[in-house]
Amino acid sequence: MVKHNFYAGPSILPREVIEATAEAVLNLNGSGLSVLEISHRSKDFQAVIDEARSLFHELLSIPQGYTVLFLGGGASMEFCRVPFNFLKKKAAYLDTGVWAHKAIKEAKAFGEVDITASSEDKKYSYLPKNFKIPADADYLHFTTNNTVYGTEYFEDFDSPIPLVADMSSDIFSRPIDVSKYICIYGGAQKNLAPSGLSFVIVKDDALEKVDRYIPTMLNYKVHVDKESMFNTPPVLPIYSALMTLRWIKKQGGVKVMEQRAIDRAHLLYGEIDRNSMFEGTVAHEDRSRMNVRFVLKPEYQSLEGEFLKFADERGIVGIKGHRITGGFRASLYNAMPMSSVQVLVDCMKEFEKLNS
Ligand SMILES: *Cc1c(COP(=O)(O)O)cnc(C)c1O
Repeated sequence: MVKHNFYAGPSILPREVIEATAEAVLNLNGSGLSVLEISHRSKDFQAVIDEARSLFHELLSIPQGYTVLFLGGGASMEFCRVPFNFLKKKAAYLDTGVWAHKAIKEAKAFGEVDITASSEDKKYSYLPKNFKIPADADYLHFTTNNTVYGTEYFEDFDSPIPLVADMSSDIFSRPIDVSKYICIYGGAQKNLAPSGLSFVIVKDDALEKVDRYIPTMLNYKVHVDKESMFNTPPVLPIYSALMTLRWIKKQGGVKVMEQRAIDRAHLLYGEIDRNSMFEGTVAHEDRSRMNVRFVLKPEYQSLEGEFLKFADERGIVGIKGHRITGGFRASLYNAMPMSSVQVLVDCMKEFEKLNS
């Protein structure tokens, strides 16, 4: 049976990317060696990381003066690397849910943390807006897409201080104005590559401004100077990331990714709003295009397990909601075909016919 993969992360990748990765595991570019067994300092791998870096620049229009890093550790490692490298006295953070929280917790070890705005009052079902950014903070940190709660900022704020963003789950799903940021980071496993890799886009002249000693592996400057090769980087995920970046370029770039994301989200939210058994959980204007949350209406709540089973029988995988929020979550990352979203929509319609 054809599977429709709605997992939140690790998550769907373009079939071509998986096939090209499998091919390179067996035989990299006809070299007779596997990508698993070559030196990260070999010519073959150097070409991979160089092209991946340059496609980041090209696809996101990253201006001069920024460096793209490929590091181990995942986004959670950056929660601590960010304040280590950028927090002098005080930083501003938006509290929009689980991942923002974890970033805040780490920052508190390095200085004063101003919680500039929070949506905790309504269980993170909306995004704070029109908040006042403290001009005396070193940076404003926020999570562009809240993977667990299903809310998303679609714009890069105007801000009196530099921005830092966790873009783990919406990188490459829209154009971004990188010049507003000193750092953009994320784990690769939502929209880019297998897990084990973080990408970090860092503004070179924002580094080396703190007085503290930064342990070598946590120091962005070290990784900038060594071009992500201070130690052995995650070779295989970087190879897959390159395949995804080439795929994005071939599809037409981030503008095309954005339009597809809008179309997929429109189709699924449309059904959630139409269907008499289901409802959305998030303020309409803040609904994430990447992670769509929905629940059965209270009178049908007892059918949750049944709907999951019904969906599973139709090849729909990974729509069980996060353990914190319950309900359902369908993740619609770049590689998700519209046809799979249609399968989910048809499944919801059919379930309604049988049960309402
Ligand atoms: C998944 C996720 C993380 C955590 O990523 P790890 O690579 O597992 O550390 C952090 N932030 C956001 C927004 C995420 O979606």
